[in-house]
Amino acid sequence: MLTVTDLSKAYRTAEVETQALDAISLEIAAGEFVALMGPSGCGKSTLLNVLGCLDRPDGGSYRLMGEDVAALSEPKLAQVRRAHLGFVFQSFNLVRELTVAENVEVALLYRRSGRASRKARIGEVLEQVGLSHRANHRPQQLSGGQQQRVAFARALVSDPKVIFADEPTGNLDSASGAAVMDLLKQASAGGTTIVMVTHSPSHAAEAQRIVQMLDGRIVGEAAPEEAAP
Ligand code: ADP
Ligand code: MG
Repeated sequence: MLTVTDLSKAYRTAEVETQALDAISLEIAAGEFVALMGPSGCGKSTLLNVLGCLDRPDGGSYRLMGEDVAALSEPKLAQVRRAHLGFVFQSFNLVRELTVAENVEVALLYRRSGRASRKARIGEVLEQVGLSHRANHRPQQLSGGQQQRVAFARALVSDPKVIFADEPTGNLDSASGAAVMDLLKQASAGGTTIVMVTHSPSHAAEAQRIVQMLDGRIVGEAAPEEAAP
C-alpha cells in the first residue's frame, strides 16, 4: 500500500535545525493496522503528515498505491488525499460554524455526486458512528468523544483506502477512547489500512504492528501480544 525509503525531513529555525525524520524506511501492506509509538517530539506527526501527503519530505522516496507521490504537484496531492485518504486528529478539527452533517459533507463536496446520494451516504456514516440523532447539532454542542466520532465519520465518508489517525484518543476519556478504537477496528476489519499514532500501550496493542520511533528514526518493531479474550 505504501513504501517509504530513506525519508528525511529537517525543520530549520534561526537558531536550531531539527532532524525530524532521519532515514526512515517503512513498508505497510494493504489492510494492515499499524501503531506508531515513541516519545513526544520524536517525529511521529511529521511522519504521519508525510505519509498522508499533507507534508513533503526533504529527501527519500515515497510510493503510495504504486504512485511516486514525491513527484506530484500540490493539486495532484490534494486529489490523492481527497480520493483515497482519511484523517483523524487529536483535536478533532471540526468547523464550528457547520452542523455535524455539514462537517461530514465537506469531505464529499469535490465529488460530482448528486445531493441526494451525498445525503444518503452522510446518513450511513453518521449511523455507523452512532450520531444520527446529532446530525443538526454544532460541534460545540457535543462531547469530545462525540466530536471525535464526527471527525471519524468525515474520514470514513469518502471510503478511504488509508486512514491516518494522530493520537485520536489523546483528548478523550477512556470510554470515549475505547469507542474511537472500536471504530478504527471496524474500519480495519473492513479492509481499510490504518496508521495510528498513540501514546497508549493498550490502544497500540489493538493494532497488528507496533513501530517504535526515537529521534526521527525507526528503532524497532513488535507484534502486539495476543489480546486477552
Ligand atoms: P511527535 O509527533 O513525535 O511529538 P513531531 O513530528 O511533531 O513529533 O516533531 C518532531 C520534531 O520536529 C520535534 O523536535 C519538533 O519540535 C520539531 N517540529 C515539528 N514541527 C515543526 C515546525 N513546524 N517547525 C519547527 N520544528 C518543528
Ligand atoms: Mg505528534
